[in-house]
Amino acid sequence: MAEIEIGEVETGEHIKKDIQLIKDGIRIDGRRFDELRKITLKLGVLKRADGSAYVEWGKNKVLAAVYGPREIFPKFLQNPTRSIVRCIYNLAPFSVDERKRPGPDRRSVEISKVSTEALESVIMCERFPNTTIDIFIEILQADAGTRCAGLTAASLALADAGIPMKDLISACAAGKIEGHVVLDLMKEEDNYGECDLPIAIMPRKKGIVLLQMDGKLTRDEFDKALKLAYDGAMKVYEMQKETLMKNITEVGEGDGY
Ligand code: ADP
Repeated sequence: MAEIEIGEVETGEHIKKDIQLIKDGIRIDGRRFDELRKITLKLGVLKRADGSAYVEWGKNKVLAAVYGPREIFPKFLQNPTRSIVRCIYNLAPFSVDERKRPGPDRRSVEISKVSTEALESVIMCERFPNTTIDIFIEILQADAGTRCAGLTAASLALADAGIPMKDLISACAAGKIEGHVVLDLMKEEDNYGECDLPIAIMPRKKGIVLLQMDGKLTRDEFDKALKLAYDGAMKVYEMQKETLMKNITEVGEGDGY
C-alpha cells in the first residue's frame, strides 16, 4: 500500500504521522494541555431567520439559524403533543482544504442526528404542538471540533429566536495526543492524535446530551478527558451567558428602555 503523506486526503484507516504535536509541554498552536482555542460568539447575525448566531472557535467558522416554531407540512408529520425538532448540519464545500462534494454524506447525516437529539432534549417541545422547529448549522470553515461549535451556535440561535428551553447547550471536546489528555483538539491533533471525545452538556442541569468517542482511551484517561471536556464546556457556557446578557442590554438600550 502506498504511504500517505501528511495533508493528503485520507481514505483509509492509516495515516503517516511525522509531525510532532507536543514540544516541551506546549501544543503546535502554542496552547497548554487544558487550554481552549480562542472563541468569539455573536447573536442575531441574520435578518431573515427567527434566530441566529455566529461562532468562531479557533479556525472554525460556524453559522446557525433557527426557523419556528411554525406549522409543519405535510400535515401527517404533525405531532399533536409536541413540536418536531429538525437539525441539519452541513459542511460547506469551501470549508476544508480540498473542495468537499456538496450535499449530505454519512458524516453530516450522523452529526445532524446526534445534534437533533441533543437540541430536542432542552427545547420545551410540548409547548408547541403540531409545529416544527428547524435548525441549520452551516460550517463555513472547519478545523476540528465543528459539532461542538455547531451545537454551541445552535443553542444561542434558539435563545435568539426566543424559543423556551430548559437549559442552554454548551459543548467542547477533549482527546489524547502523544499519550497526553488535552482539551479542544484542532485539526492536526484530531488527524494525528489517538482519540477525540466531543461532549455537549446542559450546564445548569449538569447533564450530558451528547458524548461520542473516536479512538481509544483507558478508563483513567476517559475519566480525565471527560472532566476536562466538561470543564471546557462550562467555560463555553460562561461565554454564551455573557453574549446573551450583552445582547439583552443592547436591545434594551436600542429600544430606549
Ligand atoms: P468535528 O469537526 O466535530 O471534530 P470530525 O472529527 O468528523 O468532526 O472531523 C474533524 C475535522 O476533519 C473537521 O472539523 C474538518 O476539519 C475535517 N473534515 C471532516 N470531514 C471532512 C471532509 N469530508 N473533507 C475534508 N475535511 C474534513
